[in-house]
Order: sequence, then C-alpha cells, then structure tokens
Amino acid sequence: MATRIIPVESSDMVIFGASGDLAQRKILPGLYHRLVAGQLPPTARIIGAARSKWNREEFQKKATESYFEFVPEHEQNPEIFKTFLNCLHYVPIDAMGNGGWDELTALVNDNPNPVRAFYLSVGPSLFGPISTRLSKTGIATPESRIVVEKPFGHDLASAKELNKQLGTCFKESQIYRIDHYLGKETVQNLMALRFANALLEPVWNSQHVDHVQISVSESIGVEGRGEYYDTSGAMRDMVQNHLMQLLCLTAMEPPAKFNADDVRDEKLKVIRSLDPVKPDDIVRGQYRASTHDGSYKDHAINPDSTTECFVALKVHISNWRWAGVPFYLRTGKKLRARMSEISVIFKDPPHSIFPQSERRHEGNSLVIRLQPDEGITMHMIIKEPGQGGFRLTEVPLDMSFAEALGDNGEHLADAYERLMMDVIRGDQTLFMRGDEVEAAWRWTDPIIANWSGEKPERYDQGSSGPDGSLALMHRDSRRWHAIEV
Ligand code: NAP
Repeated sequence: MATRIIPVESSDMVIFGASGDLAQRKILPGLYHRLVAGQLPPTARIIGAARSKWNREEFQKKATESYFEFVPEHEQNPEIFKTFLNCLHYVPIDAMGNGGWDELTALVNDNPNPVRAFYLSVGPSLFGPISTRLSKTGIATPESRIVVEKPFGHDLASAKELNKQLGTCFKESQIYRIDHYLGKETVQNLMALRFANALLEPVWNSQHVDHVQISVSESIGVEGRGEYYDTSGAMRDMVQNHLMQLLCLTAMEPPAKFNADDVRDEKLKVIRSLDPVKPDDIVRGQYRASTHDGSYKDHAINPDSTTECFVALKVHISNWRWAGVPFYLRTGKKLRARMSEISVIFKDPPHSIFPQSERRHEGNSLVIRLQPDEGITMHMIIKEPGQGGFRLTEVPLDMSFAEALGDNGEHLADAYERLMMDVIRGDQTLFMRGDEVEAAWRWTDPIIANWSGEKPERYDQGSSGPDGSLALMHRDSRRWHAIEV
C-alpha cells in the first residue's frame, strides 16, 4: 500500500545543538528522508547552530558522515543528498554568550521562508536563555515554533520553571514538547484502532477488560550515560513521559475532534484520574553484574546508588470507564530483549460451554507492538484443528505495519520524521502540552519521594526483571506477557 505524501510549506528550521548526537543521528537523517519522500521542499533551509566553530562546509561534511552512518545504504540517493546539502547552513553560536546571534538573525531574515521553527536539541538548562534571545533579537515571530526535547524537568517544580521560561517568550500554541513515542506509527494507530472502528470501543472498558499491561524493555544498559542516568532513574526517564503517554492514549475518552487541544484535554483527564500508587504496588530494580559485564552500580560509577533502572507499577485510574481495572506498567534496562508493547487483556466470556479441562489458552488479548516490529496482534480462541475431541487453542491475528505499508520497499517515516513534519505543519496533536507535563510530574513526584533511600531489588542481566515484578502479577493471579522478540 503506497502512502500519500503531502508536502509541507517551505521552512527554516534552526537546530540548536546541531553538532550533537541527536541532531546527527536522528534530526538530520530524518529531514533527508523527508526530502527524498518529496515532503520537505528543496527550498527549505536547515540552519545548524552550536558552539563548535564550524563553517558551512564543515557542517556539510559532518552531515555527510552522519548520512553514511545512519542512512541505510539502500536508502541513500546521491542526487537528493546533494540537494539536501544545499539546504544546510551553519552559525557558530554560544547560547549563553553574545557571539553568533547577529549572524543568525541576519541569515534567518535574509530569505524569509513562510515557516520558522527553532529546534532546541540541547540540555534543558539552555531552553530559557535561548528562548529569551530568540525573542529579544526578534527572530522568533509570533508564528514561529519552538521545539524542546526531553527531559522536560526533573520534577514538578523544575517543569513549572521550564514552562515559565518558555512561556515568557512563546505562546503555548508555539511550543512543541517532544515525546518521540507519540510519533510512532503504532501509537497513532492506537487512536485509529479505537476511534475509527466500531468494533473495539464497546468493549474498551471495565466491563470487558480484565487488565492492561504496558511494557518497555531495553536489552542495553545505561551505555556510558550512567553518571547522568543515576540522577534520573527509570521512573523519571521513562514512566513520567513515555509510559504515561501510552497509558493516556490507551485509557482516554474519545475526543470530540482529532485536534491538538481536544486530544490533549482527554489525556490530561486520564492523568488527573490516576490514584496515588501504594508502596506495595511498586517494584524497583537494578541489574547485577554478569560474567562479562558490570552491574548497574558499576555503570553508574556509584557503589551506593539506590537509583532504579527497572520499575514495575500497578496503577489505577479512578473514573467511570476504568474503575477496578489495573494497569500494570513495567520498564527496565538489560532485560531479555528490546521490546515495547501495550497488551489489553479481555475478560473471559461470562459462561464457558467448554469443559475447563480443555482450557489451554490465555483468553483474548490485543497486543499493540511498538518495537522492534511495529504491528498489532489480536489473540483469538479457536478450535484446535483435527480429530480427537473439541479442544480450544489460541491463534494470533497479526498485522505488521512493515508488511502492510512497506511492501513496495518504501521507507516508513520514523517518529522524529513525522513529528518534525507536524512542527512545520503547525499540528501540536502529538506533542505534550504544558499542563499535561506538569500533571504527570504531580503524580510522579510523591511516588519518588516515598522511596528515597530504599534499596532496589537485584536482577540478572538478560532476565525479565526482579522476582518482585513477577510476584506483583502472581499475587493478582496474572502474569506478564513474555519479554521476547
Ligand atoms: P549532545 O550530544 O551532548 O549535544 C549537545 C549539543 O548542545 C551540542 O551540539 C552542543 O554543541 C550544544 N551546546 C551545548 N552547550 C551549548 C551552548 N552553550 N550554546 C550552544 N550550543 C550548545 O546531546 P544530545 O544527545 O544531542 O541531546 C540533546 C538534547 O536532546 C538533550 O536535552 C537530550 O536529553 C535530548 N535527547 C537526546 C536523545 C538522544 O538520543 N541523543 C534522545 C532524547 C532526548 P557543541 O558540542 O558544538 O558545543
């Protein structure tokens, strides 16, 4: 099935932090892919800004290295890449100093494209200084967009402060807070699945759903970011943002319209309906050393660390639709496989006409897989084929997006590509609103405050996490979906 590409308006995208990892690995290759797709017009300008004292040619050289490293060979197109290089400009700038701002202002004002976006691919301590400068120099017009990366704060107080800093220079309608999980095809499909089909919505509630599981497992550890990660932990790094967004999209009421504020209003209501989590409903973990790799504490370079790199929680949403339905969330590092999925497990039929001894299945569940292979699976119960009695078995009805959408070899836009095009289009639906982020921190902060100093449980690398996480399910006579690819 070929996807329909709608070109965006010509734009100037200024990337602060253009010499950094995210810009080189995701943002620049992503914009190249959109140029290849015919979505980004060749008149677009991509203006790199960072402290590195490069000129335009040096930035183009760096972008070329990233192109060969991060764009798969079969997706490289030398002709279009030449056009891409022509889109690139660079201004050395120190966000905290004076150097570079006049040059950036002159460059941006030189050839005003209809859309202007400033992507802050830098640490949050620079959000305030950069947005103030953008406003003072007048480069940021009332229509300009500002894009900020995670982490959006460390707690409620710091998130409020960031909102305040951005808010003094930009209106909420100009601010795009990225959570790249929202740009994933499957995550958006969750909304299509729920609200464009008559089939699911009638059973999407406490009457029919037994429980929901949201798992985001990583097979890698903290990978050289240990010292930074140790100041954050899984709750701040993953649950407050990514898992929270998945929970909201799974649980929210149908918005009146598919537009930014209606969708975000509904997500906010879910966050506000979350009960505080009881200490017994939380399991925190740290991976042990293995025969060939160090422990979390080794990687965090902190032998006394009590920061969790695994967390599992049982969460309740106190509203009409979900009363009594537990949502189990789990995320961690150095687990058996890299896998993210949402599983909605349905209740058994009210009465079974089949003998219980013939039961060899789990029941109906809908699994929405985000990675590694985006797709949706509905687990159905059927009669086991063949002679010799009437036995029931479970079969998956599978839909892989790569197969359904990419069978003509077309490149499927990744989350960053999609979100960057939304910024240029001015569509905030898949970005977090300020009050949403604050509400998520308001729920998260007391959980973290409650466990200060508590030691996380150890778990083996390559496992499914600490035993306590398995027990969290067992005591409710349930079990986690296996972490496997
Ligand atoms: P990084 O590799 O450390 O790059 C930081 C960038 O900021 C560099 O280009 C650096 O420029 C620039 N910078 C630092 N201080 C500056 C200043 N005073 N003025 C102007 N530019 C300055 O970091 P990153 O991994 O790209 O991450 C960028 C942001 O995205 C962070 O907030 C991070 O949390 C977030 N994020 C990253 C990822 C990822 O996969 N990397 C994923 C999600 C979110 P110079 O080096 O030229 O000085």
